[in-house]
Amino acid sequence: MALERLDDLYRDAILEHRRNPRNANKLEDFNTTGNAVNPFCGDEIHLQLKQDGQGRVIAVGLQGEGCSINQASGSMLTEAIRGKNPQEIRVLTDHVRKMMQGDPEAESLLGSEGDLPNLVGVREYPVRIKCALLPWSALDDALSNTSESSGN
Ligand code: ZN
Repeated sequence: MALERLDDLYRDAILEHRRNPRNANKLEDFNTTGNAVNPFCGDEIHLQLKQDGQGRVIAVGLQGEGCSINQASGSMLTEAIRGKNPQEIRVLTDHVRKMMQGDPEAESLLGSEGDLPNLVGVREYPVRIKCALLPWSALDDALSNTSESSGN
């Protein structure tokens, strides 16, 4: 897919995150890590989370390779999960997946989550939805690797 076919608004937000990825430095001090790979377009995500005693994310590092949509979605993810506990992150992830499947309620619920709503532009290109969701799979992986002592 050529990115220039995306609506300008979405494209600008995605390219801006691609150029200036947030929280891209690898964490030295972390509780858990997650990884995800999509061989179709060479996308890879490597994620580290540092959580407080309640499981709330206090630092995140995410290194992405591959296409712009994958890397931009990862960058947006790192901003969206800061300060959230695992339960809140699972709700957020669920909303992102539903938004990408076209659910208008999930889309409106994500309206206050920073730049995440810009990912709706990718829905026009179903083959790229996987790219946008790959970082969220790495996040699932990271959460499943933690032992949640605080419970849900
Ligand atoms: Zn991709």
